[in-house]
Amino acid sequence: MPEARAMVLHGPRDLRPGAFPLPDAGEDGALLRVEACGICGSDYEQFEGALPSPYPVIPGHEPVGVIERIGPLASRRWGVRAGDRVAVESMLRCGHCADCVQGNYGRCGARGGVSVYGFKPIADAPALWGGYATHMYLDPHALVHRIAPEIAPEIAVLFNPLGAGFRWAVEMPRLRTGETIAILGPGQRGLACVIAAREAGAGAVIITGLRRDDEKLALAREFGADAAIDVERDNVVRRVRELTDGRGADVVVDVTAYAVDAVTQAVDLARRGGRVVLAGTKGGRAVPEFISDRVVTKELTIFGALGVDWPAYEHAVRLIESGRYPLDKLHTHTLPLAEAERGLRMLSGETGEPAIHIALVP
Ligand SMILES: [Zn+2]
Ligand SMILES: [Zn+2]
Repeated sequence: MPEARAMVLHGPRDLRPGAFPLPDAGEDGALLRVEACGICGSDYEQFEGALPSPYPVIPGHEPVGVIERIGPLASRRWGVRAGDRVAVESMLRCGHCADCVQGNYGRCGARGGVSVYGFKPIADAPALWGGYATHMYLDPHALVHRIAPEIAPEIAVLFNPLGAGFRWAVEMPRLRTGETIAILGPGQRGLACVIAAREAGAGAVIITGLRRDDEKLALAREFGADAAIDVERDNVVRRVRELTDGRGADVVVDVTAYAVDAVTQAVDLARRGGRVVLAGTKGGRAVPEFISDRVVTKELTIFGALGVDWPAYEHAVRLIESGRYPLDKLHTHTLPLAEAERGLRMLSGETGEPAIHIALVP
């Protein structure tokens, strides 16, 4: 009997291979043959146990693959057929709650924190709810985007970080042509923000990082950043003032993970009336010395950003297909499924090997 192979997380730091029967697509679902799955920063938090997750679970919520089987209803609804290549959104929305019907399906009230690919336990039939696998089940509530078959799978999966770039740097803060944006953190999502801001016609794009990020900062310049600031060497507030004629940035996006001081810095870097997007999570820690009066006196607007939505994913897919950016430079590692743990540890910096974007290819 044909089987799906997958990596299964049985508990914190307990990731092992497993095998599952291939399910039917049913009337309104589909079966995806996974070509590649991006490793996300939140996958590491899940692996470590910092992010609550049911066990055992197949991780992975950033897959691209080919539709292997599809039910007639799903085919009609999604406009795709067997053999089509699709990028699959992370979230499984219900489609009926108040948030869903208003288009804010990322906040779907019915989700209860479990209806996200990579976070549904294998106990829920048909078990294949994660991208760290040869096959994944596409639920009737899945959202798929067609993506050109010519793109290499490990580049195609960049739809996820790039989608985040479009939503967090452009859509949410309504970045306008000619505006200045400061991006804190040069990881895959920070670099994606640089590209998205460039695409949106930003006037000046500034990115910050640490000394050990020098290669990522150089890459940011290649992708169109006008200034890349090493916060350990330079006074970032002074540098941004210099670059903006003393005004500060119109938009500041924080995509740093765990760095709580980036939040106060974002408030300092924004101009009066500016917009701040907080997208990097801090492992539940409080921000010390956060002076809320600065938000009041500067009349700042602060957005919390979780995930990506349909228009941002569409932007990302079209950008990848355009071939306008050397995205292969963003992608640093392709690993087989069996090396998922190594990929997770590498992305987190645990192994000391420099990595930006890592894809698992079954
Ligand atoms: Zn993710
Ligand atoms: Zn809903």
